[in-house]
Amino acid sequence: MKIIMLGAPGAGKGTQAERISKKYGIPHISTGDIFRANIKAGTELGIKAKAYIDKGLLVPDDVTVDLVMDRISQEDCKNGYILDGFPRTIPQAESLTRALKARGTSIDHAVDVDVPDESIIARMSGRRACLTCGATYHTVYAKPAKEGICDKCGASLVLREDDKPETVKQRLLVYHEQTKPLIDYYRKENVLCTVDGTQDMEKVFLDITKTLGCLLYTSPS
Ligand code: ADP
Ligand code: AMP
Repeated sequence: MKIIMLGAPGAGKGTQAERISKKYGIPHISTGDIFRANIKAGTELGIKAKAYIDKGLLVPDDVTVDLVMDRISQEDCKNGYILDGFPRTIPQAESLTRALKARGTSIDHAVDVDVPDESIIARMSGRRACLTCGATYHTVYAKPAKEGICDKCGASLVLREDDKPETVKQRLLVYHEQTKPLIDYYRKENVLCTVDGTQDMEKVFLDITKTLGCLLYTSPS
């Protein structure tokens, strides 16, 4: 099963992708996590990506597309994968569609986690990230067992630079301009399902698993 997660920054894509990945036994591929790992390791890709990420802008399409095409060609992706944070622009989506078509396949589901902008800024200021293993927590909704420490690897948790309110506002602008049109793109491909991301995490997950079992038609908004 090949799944794409759509939604604003902070909508809960990563949280749900992690759960879907475990339930369906397919790799969770987060472009944001890949960029952050490269930034931490000081690679050429990381240095390039950081200049955009810190400003709340998107990393250029050519860099991002090559990265994802390479990742989905790996052996662990042969039974499917869940893409979290990619595609984020129409050219990225078109490249993905083309590459999959050349392999005789296509995306099965595009899950749009719908959360209004008003809820995003509050949600993002509570997000805490582990930059060592990529795990995500929240100061109210998903607390680690020990404050400030990652349950999975024991590293310290941080408020991401790009989760500070000023950068989040910029990221939301970019989302509306460049990423939201993907909802229509995947609606036209007949693979879109929309879930209400303002519900608690368990309910969002339940709604997603229902729609993955049986693709529902969502009416044009
Ligand atoms: P995204 O991957 O879309 O940027 P995340 O999955 O990292 O978003 O979620 C953003 C923040 O909101 C995290 O701190 C996460 O723990 C929290 N979160 C995710 N889903 C929910 C939810 N349904 N209700 C409340 N908080 C949530
Ligand atoms: P995320 O962890 O998904 O919120 O991504 C963090 C940041 O990484 C984004 O704000 C972008 O700057 C960059 N990024 C992640 N995925 C992409 C993508 N598909 N295209 C361009 N930039 C991306």
